[in-house]
Amino acid sequence: MSLQKKNVVIIGGSFAGLSAAHYFLRHVLPSLPYKGDYHLNIVDTSKDFMYRFATPRAVVSAKLMPTSNFFFPIADAFQQYNSKTYTFINAKAVAIDTSARTITLNYEKTGAEPHELSYHALALATGTRTLSPLFSLHTTRDGAEDALKELHKRLPQARSILISGGGPTGVETAGGLGEYLNGRTSWFLSKNKKSQVKIRLLSGGKKILPRLRPAIAKQAEKYLAQVGVEVIHGRRAISSRDHDDGTTTVVLENGEVITTDIYIPAAGVQPNTEWLPHTLLNEKGYIHTNRVTLRVDDAGPRVYALGDVGSYTAGGVLDMYVAVPVALTNMKRDLLAAITSENGVPKGKDTPYKPNLSETQLVPVGRGRGVGAFRGWRLPSLVVWFIKGRKYMLNTVAVEIHSGSKWDKERI
Ligand SMILES: Cc1cc2nc3c(=O)[nH]c(=O)nc-3n(C[C@H](O)[C@H](O)[C@H](O)COP(=O)(O)OP(=O)(O)OC[C@H]3O[C@@H](n4cnc5c(N)ncnc54)[C@H](O)[C@@H]3O)c2cc1C
Repeated sequence: MSLQKKNVVIIGGSFAGLSAAHYFLRHVLPSLPYKGDYHLNIVDTSKDFMYRFATPRAVVSAKLMPTSNFFFPIADAFQQYNSKTYTFINAKAVAIDTSARTITLNYEKTGAEPHELSYHALALATGTRTLSPLFSLHTTRDGAEDALKELHKRLPQARSILISGGGPTGVETAGGLGEYLNGRTSWFLSKNKKSQVKIRLLSGGKKILPRLRPAIAKQAEKYLAQVGVEVIHGRRAISSRDHDDGTTTVVLENGEVITTDIYIPAAGVQPNTEWLPHTLLNEKGYIHTNRVTLRVDDAGPRVYALGDVGSYTAGGVLDMYVAVPVALTNMKRDLLAAITSENGVPKGKDTPYKPNLSETQLVPVGRGRGVGAFRGWRLPSLVVWFIKGRKYMLNTVAVEIHSGSKWDKERI
């Protein structure tokens, strides 16, 4: 990292941050005059990129999905580039000063003094976290591994499991656990009558899988019933309390109380934006982003939001694939304009973002089945299994994001 150079800073080294960094080093930096004037800094609290897609299977069993399969060292992703052009900083961003254009970084792991990093351009990609550390990074890889180990220790004794959340995380987790613990009935039976473990899934709404049409959600519910999962609609968990004997009492919105051997909260996410001023956030805590340019207009020039943390998106990696070339192309235009004047406005039109709103989602239910749609086309179970259920796209999406091969070509 260099203080004299113009720092391009990316906060977050996951799907969006890694993609932005690869795109910058491959397509933006080479096209700038005075390339040597810029330095890319990628900042993440974690040393490892957690490929979250795989976590519902990791919850079921470490044998089916060891953590070594879905954690990837962030630093390794950049060894392919000239080491003078970038620095990976393992630190937590704790504050921003948009006037001085600095980020305060905390080094909790090493105990080093906090440090101010100046930025010439900034991409905010701090994403979201799930309530449970089983499905997303709360701190580091160790935290996620500890949570998984603890759960795996308790699973063999469990006679009841409650999962809250009818989205894909809840459905995949319930389906995986059901198949693993209860087995699957023959295809012609609608319900698994020999269930060893009572598994309940609180859908929170009228149907599961809100992003998919009702007929597909019904099919998923049928697959869940075949592995002994009961779906309870219209019930949301509002609080939970763990007991000394390992059980958990969960209170539902309607006042109902359920005590269960294992409780897995799998509903909703929180944006990782506590460190940002409220003036940059919308009412739900997401970064208020210009929906056309992906700039964060309220943060001054050359600041962008990318990935799930931005208010412009409903989340998901497919939409991020659309956003990265847009934000980075606009960054390139802004950097070129700033060569002649600090607040230089680029000539011509910005590259506009057009959201990917198609019905697209793949949801494995156990190892052999699944439901889903791609760009509005319903997919047969076998196709969902082939694309996602087999290996959770470890060989495709995870590798493409980490290595940057997804961004071999400039997209705009
Ligand atoms: C269980 C699960 C399964 C999923 N499956 C799919 C799927 O099949 N298909 C799909 O399209 N999407 C899926 N998603 C959604 C997908 O994972 C998200 O869209 C994606 O993770 C968003 O990437 P991101 O880079 O924006 O943010 P995140 O992945 O949330 O990453 C944010 C990064 O920022 C870092 N960070 C946070 N705060 C700070 C800070 N203050 N300082 C420094 N670093 C910080 C974090 O450590 C993290 O590395 C799934 C999500 C979950 C939870």
